[in-house]
Amino acid sequence: MFQAFFFDMDGVVFDSMPVHAQAWETVMSEHGLPFSARDCYLQEGRTGQSVIDECFLRARGRHAEEHEWQAIYRQKTDLFHSHGQAPLIPGIRDLLYWLHDLPSHPQIFLVTGSGQQTLFDELQQVLPGIFARQNMVTAFDYTHGKPDPEPYLIAFSKARQACPTLTKSNCCVVENAPLGVQSAKAAGLFAAAVNTGILTQADLSAAGADRTFPDMPALHAFLATL
Ligand code: MG
Repeated sequence: MFQAFFFDMDGVVFDSMPVHAQAWETVMSEHGLPFSARDCYLQEGRTGQSVIDECFLRARGRHAEEHEWQAIYRQKTDLFHSHGQAPLIPGIRDLLYWLHDLPSHPQIFLVTGSGQQTLFDELQQVLPGIFARQNMVTAFDYTHGKPDPEPYLIAFSKARQACPTLTKSNCCVVENAPLGVQSAKAAGLFAAAVNTGILTQADLSAAGADRTFPDMPALHAFLATL
């Protein structure tokens, strides 16, 4: 059994990707930029600036000016937040409390590109006792986001401080996005990909996932057999 679990947030803990995708599609289309829900799911994990810039290059053959991407990103963020807190992914609560109560006491981390200041308090409200503050790696903690390995390498190093015998083969990353899977694999960790969105399991396998699951209960059932 794994001794540490590194959970991504969007699309793994919170069912926030449909709202992200809708907000991106709406705002991009207002600016005359073609952008589909599939684009959003494939690029999940990249910064807003880089998503907008690539869209500009594709549609207009030039980079986005700073004032352009900032305005579009602010609009997208405002629209996203106007929907309020996303619901939990079905099955994630059962999985997290099952892990939390295992006699082996695996460490549980959150590893996210999000930089919301209020995130810790929100997580304490919806999942009390699961994510300790020192077990959260957020956008404030690293320089290079997914698909760079840095976020997961930081999580591994924090987990090893708490358990010096921990090795990379004892750690399991739970991701829903191709770039997140790439980040986990570049960090040398086991990547369990749960397909909670509109991509195919083949999209996640192609990114290098060690195992793919159609939903959270399927991952839970797999872990229970270990
Ligand atoms: Mg995600």
